[in-house]
Amino acid sequence: MILVNTSHITETFLPVEGTESPEILELTGDVTPAGEIRYKLSASMAGQDLVVRGEASVPVKTECARCLREIVCTLHAGEICIVRENVPEREVDITSDIREELLLTMPARFLCSEECKGLCPGCGADLNVKKCTCGKKKTARKESVPENSPWAVLDQLKTDR
Ligand SMILES: [Zn+2]
Ligand SMILES: [Zn+2]
Repeated sequence: MILVNTSHITETFLPVEGTESPEILELTGDVTPAGEIRYKLSASMAGQDLVVRGEASVPVKTECARCLREIVCTLHAGEICIVRENVPEREVDITSDIREELLLTMPARFLCSEECKGLCPGCGADLNVKKCTCGKKKTARKESVPENSPWAVLDQLKTDR
């Protein structure tokens, strides 16, 4: 749980930093956590409202949408801004906010590199390391794997409940 203790916030701000288990992301399917969530936030009060700003990131393991190689990417939410109105003077749980911020950074598809040549649809050769021999070179750059929408991931999470 990521908690902000509002009674500790002075007139300026309270740093809220640390790590959190990636379990809170409830990742399913092709994307699995490869390390802890790191967050570096600062909390302040605007009247009765709690404002938390900062960044969070988590490494995830998945496969390249073009060449299907296993890769580790970092989901990085760089401009987090959470506002909670009328918070009481006690601990406020922002775990679900951080979870959502990170899930929103999920790209439509993961690539090992923008330059990835993918697999030949004809012979299946990994065109990053091999030359195609089947002669279908011209269509080789076409995506051979359907795109994963980030919304599909969120939908999946919803139906799991
Ligand atoms: Zn690739
Ligand atoms: Zn080929």
